[in-house]
Amino acid sequence: MASQSQLTILKDTFARRLLSIGGLDLQDTTEAASGLDEFTTYLANDLWDALPPSMRDASYDTRADLDLDTEVDLSRHLTPLAVSFTDTLLTYSVISCEEALPPFLHKLLTDYLTAVYAPPPVWASTRTEECEICERRVPLTYHHLIPRSVQAKALKKRWHTESRINAVAWLCRPCHTAVHQVASNIELAQHFYTVELLLEREDIQRWGKYASKQRWGGTRRAATRSMMVGSSR
Ligand SMILES: [Zn+2]
Ligand SMILES: [Zn+2]
Repeated sequence: MASQSQLTILKDTFARRLLSIGGLDLQDTTEAASGLDEFTTYLANDLWDALPPSMRDASYDTRADLDLDTEVDLSRHLTPLAVSFTDTLLTYSVISCEEALPPFLHKLLTDYLTAVYAPPPVWASTRTEECEICERRVPLTYHHLIPRSVQAKALKKRWHTESRINAVAWLCRPCHTAVHQVASNIELAQHFYTVELLLEREDIQRWGKYASKQRWGGTRRAATRSMMVGSSR
């Protein structure tokens, strides 16, 4: 689910904060970089275990859940942290004393939530007025062309690069549902990761033609029936 990439964002946030503090003696070498990677993986996983679900699943969609402007101590939302977590931060002088932990966590969680609440970078430039499949001017949802649940895998296997990983298509709800019905998330990520590729599919073309003729708000049952009949005109 979304959680995999949220954990990655938490880890990256952690690494940036550790580097900005400079409490760690890290030179700019490959060895130091892998040391930082191990260190932050370990700490981010400990912190992740203490996060409430509202923070683990935080995203652009849930950005109204926590008001970052008025929250003064985000660490109060956490369940107790592993003792080793605090000990490690003290040992490496990331924090000077235990009282410094809540403010440190508050800053870290503010960075993390700011990052996960932000819209994907490509949004602003690709936002369309019409559904990209049926071309109706109706309320739109965004479809992650590389579905979130397989993004980590897609990066690892080099199917896609970081810059494209968050690409979205703007689809009305019925078209969005149709896309997920014709292909699994893995198939979408591997073979149908642009609107053009989706539109090359005969079933999507047929669906799009059908949907374009529907009045917004028509019954779901009518849509399903037509899909089953297939080429009906
Ligand atoms: Zn549509
Ligand atoms: Zn989708």
